[in-house]
Amino acid sequence: MRRAVFLDRDGTIVEEAGYLERLDRMVFYPYSVDAIRALNRAGFAVVVITNQAGIARGIVRESFVGEAHRHIAARVEAGGGRIDGFYYCPHYATGTVKEFARDCDCRKPQPGMLRKAAADLDLDLSQSFAVGDRWHDVGAGTAVGARGILLRTGLGRREEASPQPDVQPAAIVDDLAAAAAWILEQR
Ligand SMILES: [Mg+2]
Ligand SMILES: [Zn+2]
Repeated sequence: MRRAVFLDRDGTIVEEAGYLERLDRMVFYPYSVDAIRALNRAGFAVVVITNQAGIARGIVRESFVGEAHRHIAARVEAGGGRIDGFYYCPHYATGTVKEFARDCDCRKPQPGMLRKAAADLDLDLSQSFAVGDRWHDVGAGTAVGARGILLRTGLGRREEASPQPDVQPAAIVDDLAAAAAWILEQR
């Protein structure tokens, strides 16, 4: 079994942009590819898990999510890194697109996407990390026994200012580069 680092997408790998629905609005943080490659080289599976309620809300086309993820994968590969899997939750309980307007077990902080990835990729969740700019990113990780790291990019500073008593991060750091460095120091 491999250890994994689960990465949120928006506000973590690329800039938070509200409901990202066009490639020309997607902006990589300058350190994202290097951070992912460093985690790859240390033997971690790197898995992107992202809530995409914009699909259920009729704002984001589901086909665009695939397109965006192919674009991210290609950008990372061009920099010598690899993303082992992409998982997204298209649901939202009060969405307007009937097919996706429901409760689910995959919308973070629910850990459904992490469990699915663990089954697909043979991951050891207890030795893994979940990284993101929202408390729900941390909570989805701690729900399965992984360690959670909150970033101050994206919406992270606002989140840091409103601690959640039931969500305990292992660390709060400035950005994905700092999170990768922190993870690599734990060994
Ligand atoms: Mg985010
Ligand atoms: Zn879902």
